[in-house]
Amino acid sequence: MNFQSYPAEPFKIKVVEPVVMKTREERIAAMKEAGYNTFNLKSEDVYIDLLTDSGTNAMSDRQWAGMMIGDEAYAGSKNWIYLEKIAKEIFGFKHIVPTHQGRGAENLLSQIAIKPGQYVAGNMYFTTTRYHQERCGGIFVDIIGDIAHDATVNAPFKGNIDLDKLKKLIDDKGAENIAYVCLAVTVNLAGGQPVSMANMKAVRELCSKHGIKIFFDATRCVENAYFIKEQEKGYENCSIKDLVHEMFSYSDGATMSGKKDCIVNIGGFLAINDDELFGKAKELVVVYEGMPSYGGMAGRDMQAMAIGLQDSMQEEYIEHRIKQVRYLGERLLQAGIPIIEPIGGHAVFLDARRFCTHLKQEQFPAQSLAAFLYMDSGVRSMERGIVSAGRDKKTGKNHTPKLETVRLTVPRRVYTYKHMDVVADSVISLFKNKEQIRPLKFIYEPQQLRFFTAKFDFAD
Ligand SMILES: *Cc1c(COP(=O)(O)O)cnc(C)c1O
Repeated sequence: MNFQSYPAEPFKIKVVEPVVMKTREERIAAMKEAGYNTFNLKSEDVYIDLLTDSGTNAMSDRQWAGMMIGDEAYAGSKNWIYLEKIAKEIFGFKHIVPTHQGRGAENLLSQIAIKPGQYVAGNMYFTTTRYHQERCGGIFVDIIGDIAHDATVNAPFKGNIDLDKLKKLIDDKGAENIAYVCLAVTVNLAGGQPVSMANMKAVRELCSKHGIKIFFDATRCVENAYFIKEQEKGYENCSIKDLVHEMFSYSDGATMSGKKDCIVNIGGFLAINDDELFGKAKELVVVYEGMPSYGGMAGRDMQAMAIGLQDSMQEEYIEHRIKQVRYLGERLLQAGIPIIEPIGGHAVFLDARRFCTHLKQEQFPAQSLAAFLYMDSGVRSMERGIVSAGRDKKTGKNHTPKLETVRLTVPRRVYTYKHMDVVADSVISLFKNKEQIRPLKFIYEPQQLRFFTAKFDFAD
C-alpha cells in the first residue's frame, strides 16, 4: 500500500469524547441483548461507530463559534439570512426553503411537484425519498445503469443514469406523465457511487428537450464533486466549489440533508428555481416544518450549517474524507476481503454473499456478519441486504436483493486512520475464521422497516 497517497488529517483535535472498548464478555452479552441487531445496541457499548455518516459529523471550531451567535428570533433570524445567502452562492439556486432535515425537503418537493399517477425516475432510490414520492401518488422507476446493481463490476461513475432507460420511459409513458427526474449525487444504496458531469449534462439535455424537470438529491454532492475532479477528464484543475456550482446548473432544484455533506448534526433544505413552485413550498413549509425563516432548525443550527457548507468546499477536507474511506477499503482489498468496488464516498460495503459462502441469503449472512464484527471488536456497522429489503406486500415472501452487504460508514472528521486499522484488522481476522459466523432467525419481526428494531437468535 502506498501510504503517501493517504493525506494526514487536515485538522487538529481540540475537544475529545473518550471511548472505551467493552470486554469480550460484555460485548457478547450486549449483542445478545440487542437481538443480534446493531441498531438495538446502546451507543455507550460501541467502540467505533460506523452505523451511519448521518448527523454523526464533528463540527469545526468555526462552526461551534457560530453556534454562539444563534439568533433565536421566531422570524427573520440573522442566521437564516446568512444561510440563505451562502446556500444560494454555493448552489446557484434562486430560492431556498429550510427544513429540519433532508426528508422534510423531500416531503415538500413531492407534494408540490408530483400529481398522482405520474412517474418519478431516479438513479436507484433512497428509502425516505421514495416513500414521499409514492405517498404523493408517484410511481417510482429506477433508471440507473445495470452495473450499479452488480457488486462485482468495478467501473467509474457507477451512479450514472442509463439514458436509454430514460428515453424509453419518455417514449412509453409520455413526457407529460413524468413528474421529474430525481438524480442523486452520490448514490447511497449503490455504495456511495458518483455520477459524472457528462451524465448530468446529457440528462439535462434530454430532459430540456421534453420539458421535464430535474431535481438533485444533493445529500453527498461534495463527495461526488471530488470524484469528478479526480476521475473525469477536463475537471482536474477545477475547484470543488466550481464543480459543485456546475453540477447544480444542470438541475431545477435540490433536496439537501444537512446531516451529511453540510457537516452538521441536524438540518436540511429545499432549493428551487421556479417561482410558482417556490410559492407553494413556502406555504407548505409552515405546516410541516416551521416559518420559512427557520424550517424546524434553531438559529444556531442554521449558522453551523452555513459554516459547515463552506468548510466542506475546502479541498483538503474533501480529499482526506474520500481517501480515509478508501484507505479502509484498500486495506481490506489487500487482504482479499470481498467488498463492493469501486470504493464509494462515504462507506465501505462488505459483500456478505462472498464473505459468508457457508450461509444462504435466508440465513441472514450480512445481519450475522455485522453482529459478529461487533462482538469481535466493538465496531458497529449496518446490514444492507435481505433484512433491510423487507417482504413483498402481496406474497409475504422476503425480497431477495442482489446486494447482501454490511455497510461500514465513516462519519466526517470523527475517526483517525488508526481507528480504520482497528476496523480492518477485525474484519480480516473474522474473514480468516468466517465459519464461526452463524445463521440467524427472526424472534421479532416488525411489519414496517423491520431492520431498525428486529430481533434475532442463532438458528443452528
Ligand atoms: C440521508 C439521506 C436522505 C434523507 O435525509 P435525512 O436528513 O436523513 O432526512 C436522503 N437521501 C439520501 C441519499 C440520504 O443519504
